[in-house]
Amino acid sequence: MHRFFIPPELLTNPTSAMNATASPSQESYTNVVAPLAGARPNSISLPKDLAHQVRDVLRLNIGEHLLLLDNSGDEILATVAKTSKASVEVHLLERRPGTSEPTVRIVLYQGLLKSARFEWILEKGTELGVSTFAPILCRRSMAGLEDAGPAKLQRWQRIIQEAAEQSGRSSLPELLPIRPLQHALNDIPSGAFAIMPWEEEHNRTLHDVLHSIGNVVATLAVTRPTRARPIPALLTRARPTPTHLTLAQSTSVQSTFTHPHTTIILFIGPEGGLMPEEVALARQHGVQVVSLGPRILRAETAALTGVANVMYELEH
Ligand code: SAM
Repeated sequence: MHRFFIPPELLTNPTSAMNATASPSQESYTNVVAPLAGARPNSISLPKDLAHQVRDVLRLNIGEHLLLLDNSGDEILATVAKTSKASVEVHLLERRPGTSEPTVRIVLYQGLLKSARFEWILEKGTELGVSTFAPILCRRSMAGLEDAGPAKLQRWQRIIQEAAEQSGRSSLPELLPIRPLQHALNDIPSGAFAIMPWEEEHNRTLHDVLHSIGNVVATLAVTRPTRARPIPALLTRARPTPTHLTLAQSTSVQSTFTHPHTTIILFIGPEGGLMPEEVALARQHGVQVVSLGPRILRAETAALTGVANVMYELEH
């Protein structure tokens, strides 16, 4: 079934959605029609660009189902009710919890790379279950990459949104602002497990560390009471869009919605690799430095190897 992220306010406040786009995180511009007079309750009209996609590209017929996502982690089952040149109206049938969000929260601190390689990580990382992408400036980061203007940020958001819709996710991974590695190290939330693969580490492997984390998590799970999930109302349950949150702040926001107990922070170096001083600083902040094996991986390969191994070892 086709799934689409929509601005949460479209469900709670159609008038404010008049200025919203289909993507919940971008700046507003006038592209949706006014709520249709006499529209049945629990009916909404889709933002213009989404209406075009449903009517003209996917050609969904009256009565066909689609899933709307307001970034709360839930899915809203809807059916196409009316289409016209000006608008597409859908009727909202049911809100239910999404089923494919990760049970482990991965925050990927990625040394900034050339755009195409970074975008590849955003797409594949979203499919694999990353919760937060945090581009970082390292000593060997190539110059000029840090001034990612609004157009580039919008493009990165769109890549994340399309990968989330394609892979069946019901929450959008966050994309934090670009920051120096030092700030990221100062911001490691308590209780999180921080790991840094380094090409010059030859003693500890990622498997060793994940195995010990797995044991810790299993022990904690036995001692921690389970938390019942509240029954959500049909329309209003959207997550605020964090734009300038630090990791510690977004961690508290996140845990309110998704309940993953385990947070894994992964630090991956840039094209030029990590400097010994940067690794020493990371160790001082309690980061566990690991090897990903005897072969030197390209940064994007290292990032996805790390994410896939964390999910393999810890996601149950
Ligand atoms: N010059 C290559 C490039 O352009 O992608 C390699 C860059 S460097 C090795 C990228 C980062 O990937 C490193 O800083 C480290 O975080 C990670 N990495 C790559 N191979 C690794 C390995 N065998 N063990 C641990 N980390 C590795």
